[in-house]
Amino acid sequence: MDRRHFLGGMATGAAALALWQFLPGEAEAAYPYALTDAQWKKKLSPWAYKVLRQEATEHPFTSPLNDEHRAGIFACAGCDQKLFSSRTKFDSGTGWPSFWAPLAGAVGTRRDFSIGYPRTEVHCARCGGHLGHVFDDGPKPTGKRYCMNGVAMAFIPA
Ligand SMILES: [Zn+2]
Repeated sequence: MDRRHFLGGMATGAAALALWQFLPGEAEAAYPYALTDAQWKKKLSPWAYKVLRQEATEHPFTSPLNDEHRAGIFACAGCDQKLFSSRTKFDSGTGWPSFWAPLAGAVGTRRDFSIGYPRTEVHCARCGGHLGHVFDDGPKPTGKRYCMNGVAMAFIPA
């Protein structure tokens, strides 16, 4: 890309500028809260970065949030978006913090075939950070089991 073309693109305004940030990387949706990869690396702990930005899964029974039973809110470790209330937390026995419902509008989902069969991936609606997966074997009233990585969240006591 030559200099004149580049400057012309810049001149078309904020929309073009926002798009520009996403052109070189993967075709990812533009989330309201966006950082560069270098900024994410600096902001997050190594494991939080692996989970939130690279869709890794923490080892079960390693997160202190698995045994967090106080009243409060579980927020995104990437952008502080409030994700789950302690009122929907339950002990799934899996070793990962589990919930039967997210807060309204807090998360997004998409199909994930990364391990060969379809799962439903769950991510933060504000920053796109990977949180975990949702399964259909949860308790009432929803029957859903949001199986979350504790390292992707921060607990805020009520
Ligand atoms: Zn987030």
